[in-house]
Amino acid sequence: MSRAYNFSAGPAAMPVEALEEAQRELVDYKGSGMSIMESSHRGKEYSEVHEECIANLKELVGVPEGYSVLFLHGGASMQFAMIPMNLLGEGQTADYVNSGAWATKAIKEAKNLGSVNIAADCAKDIPTRQPAADELSLTPGAAYLHLTSNETISGAQMKSFPEADAPLVCDMSSDILSRKIDVGRFGLIYAGAQKNLGPSGAAVVVIRDDLAERCPATVPSMFRYSTHIEKNSLFNTAPCFTIYMIMLVTRWLKKKGTENVYSQNVAKAGKLYNAIDSTDFYSATAVPEFRSDMNVTWRLPSEELEAEFVAEAAEAGLKGLKGHRSVGGIRASIYNAFPPEGVDALVSFMQDFESQNG
Ligand code: PMP
Repeated sequence: MSRAYNFSAGPAAMPVEALEEAQRELVDYKGSGMSIMESSHRGKEYSEVHEECIANLKELVGVPEGYSVLFLHGGASMQFAMIPMNLLGEGQTADYVNSGAWATKAIKEAKNLGSVNIAADCAKDIPTRQPAADELSLTPGAAYLHLTSNETISGAQMKSFPEADAPLVCDMSSDILSRKIDVGRFGLIYAGAQKNLGPSGAAVVVIRDDLAERCPATVPSMFRYSTHIEKNSLFNTAPCFTIYMIMLVTRWLKKKGTENVYSQNVAKAGKLYNAIDSTDFYSATAVPEFRSDMNVTWRLPSEELEAEFVAEAAEAGLKGLKGHRSVGGIRASIYNAFPPEGVDALVSFMQDFESQNG
């Protein structure tokens, strides 16, 4: 078996142990005579998977009493709409930090549904960054303050979260479970699964239960958080196989220990930023204080060299390094499951590439 080092931003590298376990169980799940993806979402086998996945996420993320963990269809993008549908009441304003391309998309959806105040805007800044806490202009009595903890495209990550009277709502698609967070400070956290949690097909939502009660009566059942809290994410047929894979990934994370994985994340990113900073040939695109530990972004002296870099790296088994099509450059996504040896391989490739082209 030959596995590439997969630097894709999402769908992203998954733990080999989780893939192998799924492979072993794929055709006949625990002697049931069928795959878990063929099993009823209300049957014994799947119910155990569902419950274990919720329990593992609660433990790993550190979810306090009074919050629910939900699996919802439609990825993080559907949450861009569901959040204002549920939480932004008539006559209220929601504060949004515009930190980049993903925050911009969240803002667009919220503006379709209600009144939005842009509390800070650094979406187009180069070098890329997140706003400092003292830059925010907040609305008194805001329905919530929306943040994007890690801008996957620009590689800018919030290292701490602002204080606000309004509940914090945070898109953690690309850094959930990559570092310790205090869930009690947030009203709602959401993440598309396909980066740090498993394959695509679901968003994981952690919501303070009382917030779900705000939802106007006109919102359809499927789009109400209260429906999914009440039905334990089984209002309709859940994305069972995705949830099963998230369960295997959370089992893997429990075995590795979050402390170990979190410190390894800092070390992996540190190595890569050191390699970038040690030469003028490479230049990091994010302001140092906001450099992401998950999506490391940088440029080469020309677009031609960037294209060559990406192509030669792929030939050497280092895949998915092309920056997002909207910004170009290079992006190495190094989520929890990305192995440290892959970062070493990339650093050594970068040194060779520079000596041949620098
Ligand atoms: N938010 C962030 C920060 C993302 O990185 C992404 C996907 N790359 C999304 C939202 C959208 O996620 P999805 O494709 O699951 O809708």
